[in-house]
Amino acid sequence: MKIYIFLVVFFFIENFSYSQFKTKYPEIPRIDVHIHISDVDKVPNYIRVRDTLLSKYNVNFAFWITLEAINKPINSPDSISNAADGRMLCAFADYKPHLGLNHTAEYFEKKKSEGFIGYKFWFGSYYRVLKNGEIGIKDIDDPRLDSVFSNAEKSGVTMLSLHIADPNGPYGNRLDCIQDPVFFWRQIRSFENVLIKHPKLKVIAAHCLWLICQDAQIDYLRYMLNQYPNLYIDLAATFQYYYLDNTANLRDFMIKYSDRILYGTDSGGIKSDEVENIALRYSKTFRILETDEMVNGAFWGKDRAIKGLNLPKEVLENIYYKNAIRLYPNLKSSFRP
Ligand SMILES: [Zn+2]
Repeated sequence: MKIYIFLVVFFFIENFSYSQFKTKYPEIPRIDVHIHISDVDKVPNYIRVRDTLLSKYNVNFAFWITLEAINKPINSPDSISNAADGRMLCAFADYKPHLGLNHTAEYFEKKKSEGFIGYKFWFGSYYRVLKNGEIGIKDIDDPRLDSVFSNAEKSGVTMLSLHIADPNGPYGNRLDCIQDPVFFWRQIRSFENVLIKHPKLKVIAAHCLWLICQDAQIDYLRYMLNQYPNLYIDLAATFQYYYLDNTANLRDFMIKYSDRILYGTDSGGIKSDEVENIALRYSKTFRILETDEMVNGAFWGKDRAIKGLNLPKEVLENIYYKNAIRLYPNLKSSFRP
């Protein structure tokens, strides 16, 4: 009986303290550079998440970049922005590697003039979308894809949240996506060939370029950011894997490269009854970045204990909004805290 009472009390304290998270930094606005919605009627629930984050967690969630819902082009970036009370900008996207094959420089110019701020290219792991060897493009440095990068480079279009490879964990815990480390590294190396060939191309790589699920991968990420000054990364959908890393290493990495890292979640459409839960999931990512507490779960994935990184304020400012304002076309003029 005593143990039972203890457990009940412990459960309440645990949950009570959990819901009590309030940011230490209400003055820092946050931008999510990686969400996926295409429909105007899906926008208002993001504003409700913003309201909930403010009232419950003291968080000022200021702005979003939508990369379109998968295979659902946005027709009017202006109508998305209007529905979001001016707090959302749009990229245009291709969610199969071969869809970019015929993009000319004129096509990129046209998209820019329609109000899109960049191009989201999804390369994958190709086999997730190109079944049965469809068209046979297996590496992002395939010469047939070269025109995508040259034309984006020529027209000054930023590659927003470009997705390469998938998570590859350490031996014994390879995770579900890529079991084969040789395939994983082939994807990373072929992406590096693209950067070598297109030094002026500005790329924000999605998901920390997936070099975030092993400590040695973080070292390679250090090398990539050192080597390629036009390369940046977003944090979307990575938080749930931080338990695989040495916390001090990850923290050191984020501090040193804070001017190259952007906050993101990979959030999609939000239903009305999901607003509270999405706000809670956002709050977990802030808690991971801002505190040194053990955080139960992240935005995605299983509820697993993740040690907070307790990042300094200047680092958080860079990651949460300063880098995005500096890098993303039109953001400076559209942004308000
Ligand atoms: Zn995404």
